[in-house]
Amino acid sequence: MSLAGATQDEVRRHNLAALVRFLHDHGSTSRSELVSHTGLNRSTVGGLLSDLVAADLVRETEPVGRGVGRPSYGVEPVGDSAYVLAIDLRVDRTIAALVGFGGVVLERREHRYRKGQPREERIVAQLVAVCHDLLRAAPARAVMVGVGVGVPGLVRQPDGLVRFAPNLGWVDVPLGEHLVEALGLSVPIVVGNDSDLGAIAERLRGSAVGAANVVYLSGQVGVGGGIVVDGNLMMGAQGYAGEIGHMRVNPRGRACRCGAIGCWETEIGEPAVRAATSSPEGMPVAEIVARAAAGDKAAIKGLRSVGEWLGVGVANIVNILNPDVVVFGGTLREILPVVRSAVEAAVAGALAAPGEHVVLALPALGDDSTLLGAAETAFAPLLEDPLGVIAGGRPTRLAPASPASVPSPRA
Ligand SMILES: [Zn+2]
Repeated sequence: MSLAGATQDEVRRHNLAALVRFLHDHGSTSRSELVSHTGLNRSTVGGLLSDLVAADLVRETEPVGRGVGRPSYGVEPVGDSAYVLAIDLRVDRTIAALVGFGGVVLERREHRYRKGQPREERIVAQLVAVCHDLLRAAPARAVMVGVGVGVPGLVRQPDGLVRFAPNLGWVDVPLGEHLVEALGLSVPIVVGNDSDLGAIAERLRGSAVGAANVVYLSGQVGVGGGIVVDGNLMMGAQGYAGEIGHMRVNPRGRACRCGAIGCWETEIGEPAVRAATSSPEGMPVAEIVARAAAGDKAAIKGLRSVGEWLGVGVANIVNILNPDVVVFGGTLREILPVVRSAVEAAVAGALAAPGEHVVLALPALGDDSTLLGAAETAFAPLLEDPLGVIAGGRPTRLAPASPASVPSPRA
């Protein structure tokens, strides 16, 4: 941002935002680190910090460091001063959490769908119930900043319309509008693609910190991809970029839910793993991997085949995108450790220059990459204008539950 011609207020807001962003991303730090990070002088940083302390966003702690010169006061984000509602909407369950300033999970809920349940209205109604339950547990004096939702499908930007989520059976679902209506919240709701959000979180707090070029793969029933190129999330013209699971790898393969034949996810998605290992319907991938580890021949043979197909796709990704890191999320997190040699062999067969460079990583955030990425998108207003959001947001404006506004299930 160029500050030439900016008013004093704009400069102050910009400097506050820089401090708050640093604290949110890095957690506890010291005054002197903030001085060197922002390039502002000591007294300016001191003044800005007093404003943030007065707003309850930040607290000062005992002096840290015993080096030469004056000790520097410690500074840390107050995790329950401001929070977002983060949702990871999956094909088989919903995970939702209240995430506090600094990225701390304050409350978390996980709710599996009952068999045959994933219909739009029922999922949304259940999601609303989970959100109400969570919001009742919100810290009393905290400011709610926003809501972030990850969905396994094509999400139009900037309005967040879910255009197509084949494994949920959704076409053109205005999920954000449903939630605004049902929750009665007056904060922004951001809906994004689950893998894009996974990439954001792993790059900020996970196994791809500091990497400029990252591919986050999310394995569920389908397989999604979040692609970061030169530090920016690749969105494509309308937000649909990164549908790696629909890369067509096997022209003589299975029919995909998208309508095509032989998409990558039909070889490495959850149903494909069960089919390859002759496992019963509904058996979790983690259990199949455990069976293989225990010597089950069908599981070993099937996972070997899945590993080869995983390698085919990863080698293509490496050739096309030259990533620093590929992160294997969702079910691929379970699979990679047992098929790593096959994937590495395939990457060795990719072009040598990008193949030698890439790191194949497990998500450091475990199963929560998408959830925490959804939280990050929801925090954006606070990180841009901290005191404005705090001043406008207290007290939290949660309208009473209105079940009538929840879309009723179709017969
Ligand atoms: Zn497909």
